[in-house]
Amino acid sequence: HTAPRKLIAGNWKMNGVGAALAEIEAMAAAAERLSCDLVLCPAFTLIERAAGLVRDTPVRIGAQDCHAQPAGAFTGDISADMLADAGASHVIIGHSERRMAYAEANEQVAAKALAAYRAGLTAIICVGETEAQRDAGRALDIVVAQLSASLPDGATAANTAIAYEPVWAIGTGRVPAEAQIADMHAAMRQHLSARFGMEGGQMRLLYGGSVKAANAADIFAVPHVDGALVGGASLKAADFLGIAAAA
Ligand code: PEP
Repeated sequence: HTAPRKLIAGNWKMNGVGAALAEIEAMAAAAERLSCDLVLCPAFTLIERAAGLVRDTPVRIGAQDCHAQPAGAFTGDISADMLADAGASHVIIGHSERRMAYAEANEQVAAKALAAYRAGLTAIICVGETEAQRDAGRALDIVVAQLSASLPDGATAANTAIAYEPVWAIGTGRVPAEAQIADMHAAMRQHLSARFGMEGGQMRLLYGGSVKAANAADIFAVPHVDGALVGGASLKAADFLGIAAAA
C-alpha cells in the first residue's frame, strides 16, 4: 500500500497564552512548503484564536481532550461539539498524562473517541507502556490491549490516528531503539488491519516521546511510522518546523 502523507501533531499541554500564537502564525506561514500535514493542539483557551489564524493555511488546530458526553452537568469540561464550533478539527484522546492524572481508562478513551467522531473531529488516540511494563517484557501485549480497548467500532483512517507514546520517553529525552519502535508499530498495524481491514492498514501511526529535529529523520524512516506527536519541541516554530522538514 502507499504510505500516507505524514502527520506531525504538536501537543502544547498546559503552556501558552495569547503571545504564543505568534509561533503558530510562523508555522502556518511555512506550512505550504512542507510535504507533511501539521496539527497544533494548544490549550482550550487558544483554540478559537489559533483556528482563525490558520484559516487559509494547511495547518489544522486540535484540542488535548474532550468529554464523552455531548452536553450536560459536567462542570469544567468541554464537549467535542464545542471544540468543532471553536474551529478545531482534531482532538488528542487518552494521552498518558490524562490516563495517569485523571485515571482515564481505555473504555473512557473509546467513549471520548466516539464523541469526537460524532462531532466530525479526527481523534489522535494515545497508547504506550510504562518503563516497568517494558522491563517486564510486556510492552507489545500491553499496547495492543490498550489499542483494542481504546478504539471504538467506526474508527477509520480518516477519523483516527494512533500515537504510540512510551510513557518513559515523554519529556525525558529518551527515545526507544529504532527496532523497538519498528516492532511496536508492526504489532499495532497487524492488530488494526485484522480488526478494521483496509482502514486499519491506512490509519496513521504516529510515534511520540522526545521527538526533536535531530532524531526525527531516523524515526520517520522506521516502517509504519506515519508521523509524530510532539510535546516540548512543538512550542517553538523553529523546532517544530525542523521536525516537519524531516517528514
Ligand atoms: C507528548 O506529551 O505527547 C510528548 C511526546 O512530549 P515530548 O515530545 O515533550 O516528549
